[in-house]
Amino acid sequence: MNTPTTNEHALREAVIATALAMNAQGINRGKSGNVSARFADAAFDGFLITPTGLPYAETTQGDVVAMTLDGDARGARLPSSEWRFHRDIYRARSDVHAIVHTHAPFATTLACMHHGIPAFHYMVAVAGGKDIRCAPYATFGTQALSDHAVAALEGRMACLLANHGMIAVGASLGSALALAVEVETLAEMYWRLLLLGEPHLLPDAEMDVVLDKFRTYGQPR
Ligand SMILES: [Zn+2]
Repeated sequence: MNTPTTNEHALREAVIATALAMNAQGINRGKSGNVSARFADAAFDGFLITPTGLPYAETTQGDVVAMTLDGDARGARLPSSEWRFHRDIYRARSDVHAIVHTHAPFATTLACMHHGIPAFHYMVAVAGGKDIRCAPYATFGTQALSDHAVAALEGRMACLLANHGMIAVGASLGSALALAVEVETLAEMYWRLLLLGEPHLLPDAEMDVVLDKFRTYGQPR
């Protein structure tokens, strides 16, 4: 079994790898966005988060910031300016162990129109419900934005943030990243539909069937 220290180092590397992957997979550009993973050992209870203002390619594991659930930071760097919603999501959701926040182009386009993503395709259920909500706008880094994000994520694993971007959460960094890619794919399709006209949405009862199948059989990946 790994020592806690080894686990922390591996998780720091995984946070950086996930941040690099979200850019490589085209769901984020440059230094915007951020990634965190819940971390606890005998001496610490909180999460590891990407630092502010550092290109991911230049980020080393020592730059990743450890934060407690009280919001105290430990390390040489300052945490991402969005640390508040990471902290508050971990506080509110024991099922969440990783968070990916991106300014993915299509998701953000919809978010700038204050459009959530309705049940235009059955895969919308991959985020845990019959729609993917768009949280109201608040200034980045504020408690108001964090409160809106936690509310929009209730019963969901992803949400859009008005005039800003999206958040995807998961039981692991891999599942949060995969969901972020899925949400961006859905956002692109929905955006195309809006150009064509009025999409045919799936009825609530059908989304109940799909959600039940996802729960019973696992997500069709
Ligand atoms: Zn952001």
